[in-house]
Amino acid sequence: MHHFAYRGGVLHAEDASLEAIAKAVGSPFYCYSEATLRRHVRVFKQAFAGLDALVAFSVKANPNLAVIRILASEGAGADVVSGGELKRARAAGVGPDMIVFSGVGKTREEMALALAEGIYQFNVESAPELEALNEVAVSKGARAAIAFRINPDVRAGGHDKISTGKAADKFGVAWGRARELYARAAALPGIDVRGVDVHIGSQISELAPFEAAFTRVADLIAALRAEGHAIERLDLGGGLGISYGDGAEAPHPDEYAALIRRIAAPLGVRLIFEPGRMIAGNAGVLVTRVLYDKPGEDRRFLIVDAGMNDLIRPALYDSFHKFIPVVEPDPAAPEAVYDIVGPVCESSDVFAKARRTPVMRAGELGAFMTAGAYGASQASQYNSRPLIPEVLVNGARWAIIRRRPTFEEMVAGEETPDWLVV
Ligand SMILES: *Cc1c(COP(=O)(O)O)cnc(C)c1O
Repeated sequence: MHHFAYRGGVLHAEDASLEAIAKAVGSPFYCYSEATLRRHVRVFKQAFAGLDALVAFSVKANPNLAVIRILASEGAGADVVSGGELKRARAAGVGPDMIVFSGVGKTREEMALALAEGIYQFNVESAPELEALNEVAVSKGARAAIAFRINPDVRAGGHDKISTGKAADKFGVAWGRARELYARAAALPGIDVRGVDVHIGSQISELAPFEAAFTRVADLIAALRAEGHAIERLDLGGGLGISYGDGAEAPHPDEYAALIRRIAAPLGVRLIFEPGRMIAGNAGVLVTRVLYDKPGEDRRFLIVDAGMNDLIRPALYDSFHKFIPVVEPDPAAPEAVYDIVGPVCESSDVFAKARRTPVMRAGELGAFMTAGAYGASQASQYNSRPLIPEVLVNGARWAIIRRRPTFEEMVAGEETPDWLVV
């Protein structure tokens, strides 16, 4: 459910016209609905009502400070994967006791920062990372609360590039090595073993892989407890899929929660969740303007002013994003079949192939739907295209929450060495 709909013939975010926003900020831009963001956290939290659970928003899905602040005000914490994300979460008001730190390549500097902030948990992904974290903690006179991220060797996720829980993936510690790692961790003075963590992938649209992974992890908890480890937390990661409007449906959070109640509730642990896409995905759209309707040899290209540098998901993961005109088309309007492409000089700069939509003309606005997660956060300035603005809507109000940088800002960090100046 989201808050983007036609009103009076124009696509609105809540009560704000996307046409009016485009007029004010220019195109392309991302637009988020505050009501949708809030709703999704509530629905997710509601699904786990009665259980002791921390919902830690996966910051990489949408790291805008205003977005994190909205989610924090709904009681969400943060799952971070870098020092930068940790600083963002803190700057947006997330308490340190609601932050978990994931990722295979944490640096010692990032570990020291997270220890100084007093975060809730490190999700440790390897034996050498454990040793490094112990050394950093001991040198600071601190103890790091940890869970090991277990790789359950389960295939899941909407695309190979977003599957993280197979033995061949770089993530987590091998299922078969977990017990020796827990034993080692228990002997380290800078480490405080608290839990088990698992995150098997993203855009997972069936419950079966979750069930397989969570069952393995529940068995592991029993084994670890039998060996004397006080396992009090279970982090089940993120990964719950959403509907992108291409016919593939995703489980409702209530169905996902029912599965977890069955498997995890009997363990008597505090649960941690790291949802990203499920919270932010359909809370955002990417608004773009048609530049040209270009006839090709055997196809028709609709060239828009957004490119793969603004929204890379179709190029990176073959993702589907629904594309609709901002001005509501007449039901009888003629349709055409387009390849919808951006201006970037790459053949992979394609948003949609052979997509049937109402005929669109140069100057008209369209919206790529469900672009609130892994959209702005994966954007780059490739082709020296400035990052596009992000706009937040609340009712009829809207505000720019990240503005378009100027050319001078884009090149501000660049220097020309003296020897090149003649
Ligand atoms: C990316 C990521 C998530 C969020 O995944 P979603 O599919 O967006 O829910 C959660 N945990 C970890 C460790 C991640 O890397």
